Amino acid sequence: MRTNIRRFCFPASAQEAAAILARLKATAVVVAGGTRHTRTLSPAVETVVDISDLPLRHIKADGRWLRLGALCTIAELEKSPLLARWARGVIARTAGLGSNALARGMGTLGGNVVRAHPFNNLPPVFLALDAVAACVDGKREKTMPFADLLKPEVMASLGRRYLLTEIRIPAATRRWAAATDRLALTRSDWESYVHCVVAADVKGRKVRRAAVAVAAILPRAARLPRTEALLAGRPATEATAGQAASAAVSELTALTGASPAKAYAREAAGVLIRRCLLEAFKEVS
Ligand SMILES: Cc1cc2nc3c(=O)[nH]c(=O)nc-3n(C[C@H](O)[C@H](O)[C@H](O)COP(=O)(O)OP(=O)(O)OC[C@H]3O[C@@H](n4cnc5c(N)ncnc54)[C@H](O)[C@@H]3O)c2cc1C
Repeated sequence: MRTNIRRFCFPASAQEAAAILARLKATAVVVAGGTRHTRTLSPAVETVVDISDLPLRHIKADGRWLRLGALCTIAELEKSPLLARWARGVIARTAGLGSNALARGMGTLGGNVVRAHPFNNLPPVFLALDAVAACVDGKREKTMPFADLLKPEVMASLGRRYLLTEIRIPAATRRWAAATDRLALTRSDWESYVHCVVAADVKGRKVRRAAVAVAAILPRAARLPRTEALLAGRPATEATAGQAASAAVSELTALTGASPAKAYAREAAGVLIRRCLLEAFKEVS
């Protein structure tokens, strides 16, 4: 691949990186793990802003949040002892769905969600766990619900004016029941047909609140609010899981249109959602 790169910058802070990007506009690009740039570097780019040494590699929890630094690699999420215990390990397990060890070892959380293909692994799990995204421009921090980060207009400003620094997940989700599953041609395939994550606050075998997130089948990962409303207040049983799966297929029909491939993917989504709910409902007290 031919490139026109003339300069590398190694900023000392996320703010400095964002200020450089704002100044140089489309002639600069951020590199974190660099796995996406191997295929997509524009010839307009002259400056590479390498953020890989910034101190944004933390996985820690306080009384309010689980905090995941944007430079954590996918493998670090997969192997984190803290994440293994958080919401039944659903973040670690979702990270482990990554197609190959090289991409998991080099690719970062930030790169995964900031230029998210519909089938990227991490967006649905952050959606399901009510995550908040923290970004900086050259001066201050801005936070937003994770769903807003996936909007095309917001995504266009990331890596341009804004740098993603951290994903914050509410501490209350630590004890939630959760599960993830995907359908892809092979285990090593990056592009799933369907990927689902469910997370639920279950007490006394009753679902107090549930989140159902679906990816790959939609232009961007999204929650299914009507299915979630059906689950709220219901017993954590096989019958409830089946009803929720049917509700999800109907809700997706409204979102995806009528093509035969989508019809198949919707049916598959129903199967995965039912499976995820049954797994999440196991071991609830
Ligand atoms: C062979 C191969 C297999 C893959 N398999 C999978 C897979 O199974 N599942 C999956 O989800 N993905 C997969 N990917 C995609 C990719 O590797 C991951 O999404 C990875 O997490 C990207 O992170 P990165 O740090 O390498 O991104 P980079 O290449 O460094 O950056 C990607 C983009 O995000 C921007 N960016 C990066 N960090 C930030 C930040 N903190 N703030 C603002 N902008 C930022 C960059 O400017 C760039 O535009 C695969 C890629 C390859 C090449």
